[in-house]
Amino acid sequence: MNIKGKVVLSMLVVSTVVVVFWEYVNSPEGSFLWIYHMKIPEVGDSSRQKNWWWLPSWLNNGTHSYQEEDVERGREKQQKEDSIEELRLWDWFNPKNRPEVLTVTPWKAPIVWEGTYDRALLEKYYARQKITVGLTVFAVGKYIEHYLEDFLESANRYFMVGHRVIFYVMVDDASRMPSIHLSPLHSLQVFEIKSEKRWQDISMMRMKTIGEHILSHIQHEVDFLFCMDVDQVFQDNFGVETLGQLVAQLQAWWYKADRDKFTYERRKLSAAYIPFGQGDFYYHAAIFGGTPIHILNLTRECFEGILQDKSNDIEAEWHDESHLNKYFLFNKPTKILSPEYCWDYQIGLPSEIKNVKVAWQTKEYSLVRSNV
Ligand code: UDP
Ligand code: MN
Repeated sequence: MNIKGKVVLSMLVVSTVVVVFWEYVNSPEGSFLWIYHMKIPEVGDSSRQKNWWWLPSWLNNGTHSYQEEDVERGREKQQKEDSIEELRLWDWFNPKNRPEVLTVTPWKAPIVWEGTYDRALLEKYYARQKITVGLTVFAVGKYIEHYLEDFLESANRYFMVGHRVIFYVMVDDASRMPSIHLSPLHSLQVFEIKSEKRWQDISMMRMKTIGEHILSHIQHEVDFLFCMDVDQVFQDNFGVETLGQLVAQLQAWWYKADRDKFTYERRKLSAAYIPFGQGDFYYHAAIFGGTPIHILNLTRECFEGILQDKSNDIEAEWHDESHLNKYFLFNKPTKILSPEYCWDYQIGLPSEIKNVKVAWQTKEYSLVRSNV
């Protein structure tokens, strides 16, 4: 090797040592845990999103054409984000506080249980970002009178308090919309949608409608979006600790069960098919969330699966929920909410359920559904 080669080689060695040392010094617990820490997906909620400002134009045009406006908007967003110090998982998340439950997934995403998060720190972080959070909810047919008012009143009290919130309410008859008194940071948009004959289709068509609304306006209006069933009520703060790129909810009846017991769709003909031996958790379709672009992708894939099933004359056992579980198998959630975030008191109240944020309403199918 000549002199020049040796110089280049030694410079490479020195710079590697400097980088490794730097990471070591800055690692969360001052140890070589940094390798572990860097692999965690939900390290900072804006970390992955950061360079994505060009994505929608890429998707829309099919080719990557920079438009000046987009470039400017992207630059501003980048500057805003650069000025905010990055929040790392271990800054706000302490799984050791709940040793009796599973708090980290095999792919290193946090499972948020009461006691594992530092809400004050997260509040400070998100307040500086001036975030807006959206929440879609559907009430079609008798679900309007039966559930909508309780859902919205309680959401107004407990959902993302102190942050800008937009409720997107989809009803089949806007004249029956209950009047809701909202706090100043919360606002409401009501949309009239077409009803379907079967409750299964009303439930599944939500995937299509949510996707259309994200594309036409929601993507420009919010930083994070949650989508929820209406037959539930908030009982305590559902706060910024739940925010993430792709957020899934553990189903209250299944969080302790063996995966082969999960009620995944087991028929190969369905697009929602999950073979025995596969799957991570049984997720509840009553709550899911993420950034608009992630939810757009989720709703598109689920709806494609639903359409494929229709053309094959099959319907997945748990409808949109079966397709959602299939989606999360291949698109791992970056954050998971414990069953405390969507609890059914019919189960009782085991000791690990420390703080119920949302509770199921009593199922009264014969009263609210048109076909049973
Ligand atoms: N839904 C509705 N009207 C219907 C059926 C369903 O508005 O006739 C909406 C509503 O938001 C509801 C969701 O679809 O919460 C899912 O249906 P449901 O809650 O009855 O399903 P389950 O939670 O019992 O599986
Ligand atoms: Mn429901």
